[in-house]
Amino acid sequence: MIVDLRSDTVTKPTPGMLDAMMSAQVGDDVYGEDPAVCELEEKTAKMFSKEAALFCPSGTMTNQIAIKCHTQPGDELIAESHSHIFHYEGGGIAFNSSVQARLIDGDRGRMNASQIESAINPDHDWLARTSLVAMENTVNKAGGSYYSLENMQQISALCRKKKLPLHLDGARVFNAMAEAAYSAPEVGELFDSLSVCLSKGLGAPVGSLLLGSSSFIKKARRVRKVMGGGMRQAGFLAAAGTYALDHHIGRLSQDHLRARELGKALAVMPYVSEVMPVDTNIVIFHLHTFTAAEFIEKLKPYHISVSAFGKHTIRLVTHLDFTDDMLAYTCDVIARKL
Ligand SMILES: *Cc1c(COP(=O)(O)O)cnc(C)c1O
Repeated sequence: MIVDLRSDTVTKPTPGMLDAMMSAQVGDDVYGEDPAVCELEEKTAKMFSKEAALFCPSGTMTNQIAIKCHTQPGDELIAESHSHIFHYEGGGIAFNSSVQARLIDGDRGRMNASQIESAINPDHDWLARTSLVAMENTVNKAGGSYYSLENMQQISALCRKKKLPLHLDGARVFNAMAEAAYSAPEVGELFDSLSVCLSKGLGAPVGSLLLGSSSFIKKARRVRKVMGGGMRQAGFLAAAGTYALDHHIGRLSQDHLRARELGKALAVMPYVSEVMPVDTNIVIFHLHTFTAAEFIEKLKPYHISVSAFGKHTIRLVTHLDFTDDMLAYTCDVIARKL
């Protein structure tokens, strides 16, 4: 058995998804003429109660376009210290937008309104202009933690009062919604822009959407083209996304259950010093007897792949292609004297 727990991006399209892709109606999306792309954009915008959406090749691109559209060079954005936009987008905040980041240490990746309020710069010409607050839900690097609706509402109210745009990196917002039981419109109305990924827990091969007002998305479309993200017959990929939204949201809680089982199996092992709380589909744990690189080597003969997330830290992510049989097998291997 081969078990790949490195990321929820490793899933392969299901037969149903492949059928949907192969029968997609396509056209040139740079001309706005790809029916499958338009369908996906309209469907996702409607789902989150936003006016418009833009289909992009990656979540990095949707986040970076949003940052570019909300800011001017020399500005500062506020984000949490674990955030993907800061750690894992190749320095794109500086590269694409000439913006700097003010990082807040939150509670397992989650900021609150008063922390954000204290980080907003007063209007002095020697201070960078604070022009954006960027949240992430769920928080990848903090182990898949999710925001409460109340916390998001308080942050949104603060940003509106301060006239600060609020962006959500919702690469795994569907996991947050599955666990916290808030709805897509409840989330959508709180943010000026949202990035959602189809290529993570939803199991599509490629693609993310940026959501916002019609005027914001018009601007974003121009930036997407500049970044080289204007795709021609992208409908083959968009059809996979539409299929994922129709069929793969309801099953996310199964991934969360399996992640919790992995967390429990690891917590009792002598080589594990600490398992972070497992809130959604991500399990992060620390090793005390060997390094992450050694742990990865030890699992190799069992054909189980995991990610190093620090010198002594490992991340596992459950997903569509991780079955109950694989869970039983993985728990069995974990329980051996590695
Ligand atoms: C995966 C991810 C992204 C986007 O990643 P891409 O690989 O560029 O699609 C953005 N934010 C978070 C939190 C992620 O986990």
